[in-house]
Amino acid sequence: MNRLTQLNTLKTTDCFDVCVIGGGASGAGVALDATLRGYKVILIEKNDFGGETSSRSTKLIHGGVRYLEQAVKKFDFGQLKQVRHGLAERRFLLQNAPHLAKPLAIITPVFHWFEGLYYSIGLKIYGLFSQDTAFPSSSWLSKKQALAFIPTLSNRLQSAVMYYDGQLDDARYTLALVQSAEKNGAVVLNHAAVTSFEMDENGKLSGAKVVDTLAEKEIQISARVFVNCTGPFADTIRFLANPNELPRIRPSKGVHIVLPSRFLASNKAVLIPKTEDGRLVFVIPFQQKVLIGTTDTPYENTENEPILEEEEVSYLLETVAPYFTQKPTKKDVEAGFGGLRPLISAKSREGKQTKTLLRDHEVEVDTKSGLISLLGGKWTTYRLMAEDTTHAIDAFLKKEGTRACQTKNFRLVGAQNVQFDFSNSQNIGVSLDLTREECLEMYQRYGDQLDILWEIMKEDSRYLNKLHPDFSYRLAEVVYASRYEMAMTLRDFFARRIRLEILNWSAVKESMRQVADVMGEELGWTFEMKELEIKKYESLLENFEVSASIVDKQ
Ligand SMILES: Cc1cc2nc3c(=O)[nH]c(=O)nc-3n(C[C@H](O)[C@H](O)[C@H](O)COP(=O)(O)OP(=O)(O)OC[C@H]3O[C@@H](n4cnc5c(N)ncnc54)[C@H](O)[C@@H]3O)c2cc1C
Repeated sequence: MNRLTQLNTLKTTDCFDVCVIGGGASGAGVALDATLRGYKVILIEKNDFGGETSSRSTKLIHGGVRYLEQAVKKFDFGQLKQVRHGLAERRFLLQNAPHLAKPLAIITPVFHWFEGLYYSIGLKIYGLFSQDTAFPSSSWLSKKQALAFIPTLSNRLQSAVMYYDGQLDDARYTLALVQSAEKNGAVVLNHAAVTSFEMDENGKLSGAKVVDTLAEKEIQISARVFVNCTGPFADTIRFLANPNELPRIRPSKGVHIVLPSRFLASNKAVLIPKTEDGRLVFVIPFQQKVLIGTTDTPYENTENEPILEEEEVSYLLETVAPYFTQKPTKKDVEAGFGGLRPLISAKSREGKQTKTLLRDHEVEVDTKSGLISLLGGKWTTYRLMAEDTTHAIDAFLKKEGTRACQTKNFRLVGAQNVQFDFSNSQNIGVSLDLTREECLEMYQRYGDQLDILWEIMKEDSRYLNKLHPDFSYRLAEVVYASRYEMAMTLRDFFARRIRLEILNWSAVKESMRQVADVMGEELGWTFEMKELEIKKYESLLENFEVSASIVDKQ
């Protein structure tokens, strides 16, 4: 996938069938589905693929135990349906990119036997709904068993309940969707923002003005239908297409903090089922670190990145402290991130707290402008959301000769070579002086594309160098991301091609210059461009540290 090639194809295409706006999970999912059905598709992303919410989630693939509880308590069949959808989709997410998604055991500490019984019954029902053999069934653990699984849990617990959901690398999963769409014929462009629309004589959308934010140039795109997949930013595009629309999105901010692995010392996660203010908080192992989150607060100004703030850090540290033997402090926080949930506000529900709104999705067709908007949803159901949206595209375009939805059993880039011999690949890695553990970590990022990475490592011994002594990332990955994954900025690389930005800010700062050197060589940056890029990213990280009031551990 190369940005210049994408720009050239764009210039030589008169009119696309479908222009998808927004390259998060929703937009990438729609682009893939529509491409596989036989449409000529272009995907336009303002920032980077997965650059907003879709790389800043809790990374759980779930039916939603919380929704099940509410469904049962309130006899709410709508919520029950959502749980079932989530559980069905969980299976496709794992099956279609097994290197990027896996089952995760989640343990809920229990302080009274009655609580244990309550959660056990609830989780058995959750298991019955799923009936998926990839996920072991739930179990009620004794105190001794729970502490054997997670030795850092507070020994005040009476027992614990364990169940399984899925976990994914959200940024790389988004990228795999984009790559799969591109491989099958879609044009995909990051760092390009839709700024306005053009209408035909009937008032229907016929074109869009797009600004290439890297070249600072305007591009004109014609398409038969425009699909708004901009998540929490969806209202902006809806108003551009039709200023008379009512707002539908109530963005809600959620943050995570990241701690060293010793605070959990386990490959299993902990769920704190009820915080003082009635939320769920997860403590999750993710790539040798521990993620803790999340919060849920209304957020107005979507132009500003929802970065981690000091009081949010304190809230999460205080919330988890009673459940663990070690009490983490601000000094232990190595990084953090915030995202915006694209919650839908039903027109009649104005004024309700975002916590009580449904995380459902809706496909809205504006009959005046013809804009199709995919609103709301969650990562877990991205495929179903894309399927529903592409049905709306079918109904709108009525194009002859298109196919039915293909995405249920469609293996994504990185998972397409089912014959891929990981043990052989491991041997190559070991011969390049990589440990088996490092080979496995790389496989979990690149899947069957690992062979290309090995070739890059053989090109120049410098590419075998580690970015940072505490992490397994190698310089070859900078080359790979620049050549094949459309990483165009330092942040594209550090935050989404690898995940160092959400794992450890100091390590990013320490390795930034050598990454910029290699990226600059690959992308043809001048010395001034490189220095500007470094300065820009350094000041962003400083801003993060100041906002979260986290001490720089350099
Ligand atoms: C804190 C948090 C935790 C979460 N945890 C989970 C979880 O564990 N499991 C789960 O299933 N779900 C989870 N979710 C929900 C899930 O992350 C989101 O529902 C999903 O990522 C939304 O994807 P999206 O593509 O709709 O939006 P986004 O990922 O935000 O993508 C929208 C894209 O549109 C682009 N865009 C905006 N304007 C324009 C324009 N003018 N031109 C071109 N592009 C534009 C943006 O740059 C952005 O990349 C969580 C959400 C949050 C905030």
